[in-house]
Amino acid sequence: MVEHQLRGRGIRDERVLAAMGDLPREMFLPPNLADEAYFDGALPIDAGQTISQPYIVGLMTELLGPHPGMRVLEIGTGSGYQAAVLARIGCDVLSIERHPELAATARTRLAAPTLADPDGAPLSDHIRIEVGDGSVGWRIRAPFEGIIVTAAAPRVPDPLRRQLADGGRLVIPIGPLKTQELIQVIRRGDGFEERSFGACVFVPLIGAAAYDEATLHAHRRLGPFRI
Ligand code: SAM
Repeated sequence: MVEHQLRGRGIRDERVLAAMGDLPREMFLPPNLADEAYFDGALPIDAGQTISQPYIVGLMTELLGPHPGMRVLEIGTGSGYQAAVLARIGCDVLSIERHPELAATARTRLAAPTLADPDGAPLSDHIRIEVGDGSVGWRIRAPFEGIIVTAAAPRVPDPLRRQLADGGRLVIPIGPLKTQELIQVIRRGDGFEERSFGACVFVPLIGAAAYDEATLHAHRRLGPFRI
């Protein structure tokens, strides 16, 4: 996975490559999908959600510029894999999930002794998981040096811009429900630099600062969400 799907496609950050190489991805999947853990695509998890393609996790993590001690807000805990990658690098992660059952499973999983940081402490020592609507961020813990949104949004939510520290980076898939662009936002004082890093497809961000109900309703009629 690291050589072919990540390094071979241009992921260069050695911290990201090492973290993803060290983590047993099969521990983040339903047991019947453990054999598919290194598959080059997204996979289903509980609650109709997904664990993202390894390459997209690598790219988003690299675009965040992670480093030990960095304060990161993740929106969309899902399986907990993205949070684990950041924690393994040494980031201090606050992760928000709207499905309580996914949050509970991820909390248990990340406390496992087999998922440790390089000093042997459980990854849960570096990750706090909260249940709620992350589309509006988590104001009382702001500002964040990095914000990573692992669900698609129609535009960059204003509360997330406001909760970004000066010089901080926000990585988020932006666009209509069918397909999005991966956007990196860097805060420079009151201004924001934005760059696109290509197409991607994510499950939708559901919340106050995301798609309106009519848009979601129309999409639901077309079938289950895809990533
Ligand atoms: N980062 C996850 C991982 O490593 O497994 C993958 C996340 S999955 C593609 C998107 C997640 O975003 C889902 O678990 C979904 O429930 C969650 N989500 C969607 N809208 C949300 C919101 N407003 N607040 C928090 N979580 C949200």
